[in-house]
Amino acid sequence: MEIKELEKVEQAGLFGKLSQLGHEQVVFCHDEATGLKAIIAIHNTVLGPALGGTRMWNYATEQEALTDVLRLSRGMTFKASISGLNLGGGKAVIIGDAKTMKSEAFMRRFGKFVDSLNGKYITAEDVNMKTADMEYIGMETKHVTGLPESMRGGGDPSPVTAYGVYLGMKAAAKKAYGNDSLTGKTIGVQGIGQVGTYLVEHLVKENADVYITDIAEDKVKALAQRLGVKTVAQDKIYDLDMDIYAPCALGATLNDDTIPRLNCRVVAGAANNQLKDEVKHGYMLIDKGITYAPDFLINAGGLINVYNEFLGNYNRARVFEQAEGIYTTCMNIFKLAEQEKINTQEAAIKLAEKRIADIAQVRTRR
Ligand code: NAD
Repeated sequence: MEIKELEKVEQAGLFGKLSQLGHEQVVFCHDEATGLKAIIAIHNTVLGPALGGTRMWNYATEQEALTDVLRLSRGMTFKASISGLNLGGGKAVIIGDAKTMKSEAFMRRFGKFVDSLNGKYITAEDVNMKTADMEYIGMETKHVTGLPESMRGGGDPSPVTAYGVYLGMKAAAKKAYGNDSLTGKTIGVQGIGQVGTYLVEHLVKENADVYITDIAEDKVKALAQRLGVKTVAQDKIYDLDMDIYAPCALGATLNDDTIPRLNCRVVAGAANNQLKDEVKHGYMLIDKGITYAPDFLINAGGLINVYNEFLGNYNRARVFEQAEGIYTTCMNIFKLAEQEKINTQEAAIKLAEKRIADIAQVRTRR
């Protein structure tokens, strides 16, 4: 959605905003005793229960928290749909300082709020949430995923996410270069956290020429030493002479400032909401001849992982197998974008919305 459109949404009042973004339900959760303030947003449940992580963040204003949860839950709807999962889109945000406010009672109180939705919303980990928090939430509700393997959960989703990003990158390379080999390709990976590190391992195995950067310099040094990859200064990654840029840290790194600096043919990374403006920056990339692999599609491995946990009888091999579908979906999206002369993010949203509309039709039939 364009920034201007988002601004219009901001001015539309709460229900106007819900109607424009298409949300079904928003729940405000408040508990005096623990100091809990949370918002759960359920965007769309046509395909199934709304699954999405809980993010804890010290938002400057409540408005900012609301905007974040509405935007994130909408993204989850698209991610689940395009990945062929029978899940809707939802997300929760908890307002406050994760370092000082979290306690067992705090997390269990939040779990009670999740439980009150009777499975319409299923939670998982997101920024500033740990497996231990999910365990506390799980004491009050069964509608929680992201539990450790010891509790028959799916464990760390990052290896699956990284695998999907790797395959999405290969698909984008095929589109840009005519074949999907990454051997010899110069690839800049921004952010070597959980996902970035596994991604770099895949790239090194395929003999790519990898550059890494991160705000945590010690991590950069350690990984460069372990895998023999090169390093680049934080802000210099945008100017690197590279084939592929892989944003695996923050959102909105594709913007008015960075796109003109990019010297690559492919952007494919794990970060959510990479395009600051879905429309404007999507087209700026096309104008520069850059193939963009839609973020919510190629980073869906983590969601595929928790979906399998939710279904029960979790099987890691099956999860990786399912993540392989990301390659074909990417190729389909590149084709659709070309046919319809739209950018790849728009094509991905179109495909996601089509599946929801088709299934909604099926559901109304006897
Ligand atoms: P993480 O927190 O483990 O790693 C992020 C890394 O980015 C950290 O090492 C951090 O130091 C670094 N970083 C932060 N700001 C930076 C900057 N300005 N420049 C360079 N590096 C910077 O997170 P993660 O789990 O690896 O996830 C990475 C991205 O992928 C996030 O945007 C996340 O939302 C998204 N994502 C992750 C998953 C998953 O399964 N973990 C799934 C889907 C999407």
